[in-house]
Amino acid sequence: MKANNKSARPSQRVPERGRAASAKGSTPSYSALAPRRIAEILKRLDQLYPGVTCALTHSSAWELLVATILSAQSTDVNVNRVTPELFRKYPTVEAFAALTPEQLQPDVRSTGFFRNKSKSVVGAAKKIVAEFGGQVPDDMEELLTLPGVARKTANVVLGTWFKKAEGVVVDTHVHRISRRLELTTQDDPQKIEQDLMKIIPREKWILFSHQIIWHGRKLCISRKPKCVDCPLENLCHAADKTWSTVELHKNAKA
Ligand code: SF4
Repeated sequence: MKANNKSARPSQRVPERGRAASAKGSTPSYSALAPRRIAEILKRLDQLYPGVTCALTHSSAWELLVATILSAQSTDVNVNRVTPELFRKYPTVEAFAALTPEQLQPDVRSTGFFRNKSKSVVGAAKKIVAEFGGQVPDDMEELLTLPGVARKTANVVLGTWFKKAEGVVVDTHVHRISRRLELTTQDDPQKIEQDLMKIIPREKWILFSHQIIWHGRKLCISRKPKCVDCPLENLCHAADKTWSTVELHKNAKA
């Protein structure tokens, strides 16, 4: 079966209906960023993932910050295996601030990149205690001064804990799916975020990120996305689709 042939080009993987659509050429009026298309994508995401939120287990802004730092290059499931014991052992930001990175390393080792992550978590704790009275700041500029915190982590904490829409979380799922859906042509997370902030209504920024992250876990996975089961399928022209009823666009890919 061609879908299993790794050397097959995307256009060879699509079924008869997809190839027929490709042969007709581009629809002249197609615009990836047309407000109606964006609204339809958002509507379908709402139907598919109503009320979803962050999958990282946490009970405070500090715990969410730590979990988000630990989630880099790891999975939420993996992080959730580590954090309950971690927060039992070190229940406050002050307890983390009293550690050296080396002391924390064994506790976070299984999340990968544990030396850098330990340095970031302990560094962030020390700064929060020394400069922010032990409270995680609810301000983008201040969050970005913490070691190991870039916009993605800051947006997770601001959106999920403080309910402040300051930006759009661009993690690996949002990066991949935004490109597949032609919501951006950029590759740099900050530029992707800027593109998304222009086309997604601000009141949707927080939910949109969560929905796309869930979509990336459930259906629009990195390799062999489950397009045949995807409710966005006829709006999606991704070149790396595994099944299609619409033409494919060669630049629309992860
Ligand atoms: S159709 Fe396929 S590539 Fe497009 S969003 Fe759905 S799962 Fe992802």
